[in-house]
Amino acid sequence: MDARERALRQAYGHAVRWLESLSDRRVPAGASVDEIVRALGAELPDGPSTPADVVDLLATACEPGLTGFPGGRFYGFVVGGTEPAALAADWLVSAWDQNCVMRAVSPAYTAAEDIASAWLLDLLGLPSDSAVGFTTGATMANFTCLAAGRDAVLRRAGWDVGDGLAGGPAVRVIAGADRHMAIDLALRYLGLGRPELVKADDQGRIEPEALRHTLATGGRRPTIVILQAGDIHSGAFDPFVEAIRAAREADAWVHVDGAFGLWAAASPQYAHLTAGCTHADSWATDAHKTLNVPYDSGLAIVRDPLAVRAAMGLHGDYLIQDEHGDPIDKVPELSRRGRAFTVWAALRSLGRSGVADLVERLCRHACAFATGIAGIDGATVLNEVVFTQVCAEFGNDERTERVLARLLEDGTAWISGSTWHGRRVMRISVSNWSTTDDDVTRALDAIRRASLSA
Ligand SMILES: *Cc1c(COP(=O)(O)O)cnc(C)c1O
Repeated sequence: MDARERALRQAYGHAVRWLESLSDRRVPAGASVDEIVRALGAELPDGPSTPADVVDLLATACEPGLTGFPGGRFYGFVVGGTEPAALAADWLVSAWDQNCVMRAVSPAYTAAEDIASAWLLDLLGLPSDSAVGFTTGATMANFTCLAAGRDAVLRRAGWDVGDGLAGGPAVRVIAGADRHMAIDLALRYLGLGRPELVKADDQGRIEPEALRHTLATGGRRPTIVILQAGDIHSGAFDPFVEAIRAAREADAWVHVDGAFGLWAAASPQYAHLTAGCTHADSWATDAHKTLNVPYDSGLAIVRDPLAVRAAMGLHGDYLIQDEHGDPIDKVPELSRRGRAFTVWAALRSLGRSGVADLVERLCRHACAFATGIAGIDGATVLNEVVFTQVCAEFGNDERTERVLARLLEDGTAWISGSTWHGRRVMRISVSNWSTTDDDVTRALDAIRRASLSA
């Protein structure tokens, strides 16, 4: 066995022990940054070390400072876990070390990307000739889609973004009041500024009549309308049929941020939540959330492949029409390692029914949380419909805050606090494939204990 193989075997052993520890360990990290720095050693060594020893040191020094993100009792931000086939594929990807930029030099990658793209469009119920770009996450997926939209609406108004934004017509961007902050960030990167906000209801759904009214004011201008599939607090979906009809009448580009929620389309039981969504122009979602592919893995889907190539391609020209774009032409920066390999592996492993089961299992656990919390004295569940998110409050802001603090000390589960419509709330995101009924029971017991002592 050579040094490389010994290092790989060492890493394998540590990885398996880490994954096994997840079912019983406390979820929050047990050591501080300073403690981990001391354990790793801050001095740059004067000479070389054996690779296996380096892996050993990394694993043993870092272990106490790891948070149980991929475990079944992490319900903080929507994180997802690591589906086994996707995780193992990710190891292979590192060993392969391909540069996946172009079709001609990376046929293996391009094949996996083409297949994964077709499967994704099928599962998500989106037009089959859309372009699928593989990004770091939904933030950059939103950015990619909105860049394609920005350039397209300007092109329709006779302006080429190749000449810059200054001097061209102003682009109007309209979003629901409860859009995710990633939208504002993407718009800032794109030089489009803050969106005009349209009233949303108490669950965060855009009000189509209010949207229609906003679109009717301010004259005809190049316009982008941003909708949402899955509110991070309520899990609610915008009413796509009516909202998209209103946007179409105003000749707007319609984008949907569906970072975790777009996956509802893959489940016969929840697909109705995305009804009408397919009529948008672009969609952003994450594979590292609901699909449980390891980080970083977002998806930028654009109905008109030429629109995204014009915005993101190396040769950004709407008129270049060769049949297949290169992987690099669909995203702002391609991961050279190739993100589609792990997405392919997750989809190949789960199959159509497995993806549906996954979505439905997450929702079933979320329902168990909603029912369990509703039965706790003084607690109120704020969601109208339960998808994968549950939001609750415990009497008032101060008490909710105390419950959250007790929960964190307890360490059985990780559940985040948030501020929603001016109130402090407990927010539970169920996104991990490996969460079991027992994990949910243990987490609910921890919430009950925290509530009793707060
Ligand atoms: C998570 C999330 C984002 C941002 O996604 P990243 O993968 O963290 O970049 C955007 N929108 C919604 C609705 C989200 O849930």
